[in-house]
Amino acid sequence: MGKVTGFMEYERIEEGYKPVPERLKNYKEFVIGLDDAQANQQAARCMDCGTPFCNSGCPVNNIIPDFNDMVFRADWKSAIDTLHSTNNFPEFTGRICPAPCEAACTLNVNDDAVGIKSIEHAIIDRAWAEGWVEPQPPQHKTGKKVAVVGSGPAGMAAAQQLARVGHDVTLFEKNDRVGGLLRYGIPDFKMEKIHIDRRVAQMQAEGVAFRTGVLVGNAKDPLGKDSKVTNWAKETITPEQLQSDFDAVLLTGGAEQSRDLPVPGRDLAGIHFAMEFLPQQNKVNAGDEVKDPLRADGKHVIVIGGGDTGSDCVGTSNRHGAASVTQFELMPQPPEEENRPMTWPYWPIKLRTSSSHEEGCDREFAISTKELIGDKGQVTSLKTVRVEWKDGKMQEVAGSEQTLKADLVLLAMGFVAPVSAVLEAFGVEKDARGNAKASTDFSGGYATNVPKVFAAGDIRRGQSLVVWAIREGRQAARSVDEFLMGYSDLPR
Ligand SMILES: Cc1cc2nc3c(=O)[nH]c(=O)nc-3n(C[C@H](O)[C@H](O)[C@H](O)COP(=O)(O)OP(=O)(O)OC[C@H]3O[C@@H](n4cnc5c(N)ncnc54)[C@H](O)[C@@H]3O)c2cc1C
Ligand code: SF4
Repeated sequence: MGKVTGFMEYERIEEGYKPVPERLKNYKEFVIGLDDAQANQQAARCMDCGTPFCNSGCPVNNIIPDFNDMVFRADWKSAIDTLHSTNNFPEFTGRICPAPCEAACTLNVNDDAVGIKSIEHAIIDRAWAEGWVEPQPPQHKTGKKVAVVGSGPAGMAAAQQLARVGHDVTLFEKNDRVGGLLRYGIPDFKMEKIHIDRRVAQMQAEGVAFRTGVLVGNAKDPLGKDSKVTNWAKETITPEQLQSDFDAVLLTGGAEQSRDLPVPGRDLAGIHFAMEFLPQQNKVNAGDEVKDPLRADGKHVIVIGGGDTGSDCVGTSNRHGAASVTQFELMPQPPEEENRPMTWPYWPIKLRTSSSHEEGCDREFAISTKELIGDKGQVTSLKTVRVEWKDGKMQEVAGSEQTLKADLVLLAMGFVAPVSAVLEAFGVEKDARGNAKASTDFSGGYATNVPKVFAAGDIRRGQSLVVWAIREGRQAARSVDEFLMGYSDLPR
């Protein structure tokens, strides 16, 4: 414990943001990380609790009290070694994790939590700047071949772990670039893509082979007729081919099927899934030419869905120069403050205002869309109704219908399931929600019903978080290693 009285002396320090007018001009990150003095002070607030709830609140079980102490003592090298022992990519989580660790911090019972995420951010940015993040090629090769299908955080974490213990790993990705939703989904202003590129270079030096533009699935109908997912792949490889060429296959294809809004007028022009809108902007930022990109300039934009994806649509629309941006949420507005003794150490339901909301957005709660109205085939407005919840059931409020102007409607209501055609092509059993069925047991976890085929990340647990994907990728790597070698030294 760095400073015994630190938690009584120092206030929580928030990371800074560049001013809104400045950050709206581009798609660059705008968070100003802690400087050394701030990081030292923030770390000094950690109480090094006998039972560190933060450590179990963090899905990768980062050893938070230890790295807080190291940062307090300015031993940054030990801090990054400790952080890397549980998390392959702290630069991802240090930027975009919602930080359930902080909800679980003991200080959060009656004070402000330690700014754990900001310390993680400072440690990894320092490590890259100092040149401490280096490839860790294996000491020996096992001769075993592993295919990882899907290059999001789950696939990347698994591939890195497996390559480091000597397996020949090939990472297949149907998109033209590696990264999954980190690359095509999460806006650059939340996480610039150089962070993925640096890790790809590191992993290549560790022996991972990347094959982008390759979809693994049934060649005739790879994504299935019902799929709403865009297919940019140039090549298809069948599951049979993969199973004969590799000793083990790990599926980390995410949960890509967006939830639709089946109301009258859905087929009008100007209504798009968030995942049509956001990836296009990622591509433009990467320097690609996108034909007729979806733009929000001068438009009245309605984003349907109050979560992270919706918030990313808000931030992107404002950068386009939308005339107005309104975000709808079906649930009632949560309280500004949670009842801390009731919710701690769990994730509380409370009003969350993202940096994108602060950039300009009207937020409507307890509202449902009944109809999309158009003129000459183009959406022009939405018919809505207020809703209330009684005995767990949603009811419309009589006489609360409204019509709101809309030139662009973005559907950000979450994701229902993985693309079922891919699971079916492998013969992988699904759970009740349509995800790949596999347990997380300590031994044999992440194995599907199909011999030598494993599954991890959103494809197994459903739509989730980057930090959960990293956890599942790491744990699945251990299971695959154990399956191939009969034992594994990889951590879980
Ligand atoms: C817009 C948006 C914003 C988000 N913001 C946050 C956030 O701020 N913080 C946070 O923690 N989480 C956030 N999330 C959630 C987070 O991105 C996901 O939970 C996480 O990326 C899941 O990782 P994954 O590796 O399981 O799958 P994904 O990241 O979905 O990656 C799966 C990859 O597999 C590829 N693939 C699929 N099928 C095949 C196939 N058959 N052959 C070859 N390749 C295939 C896909 O193209 C994709 O690249 C956000 C999600 C979205 C959509
Ligand atoms: S990965 Fe997320 S939950 Fe874990 S320490 Fe970092 S911010 Fe907290």
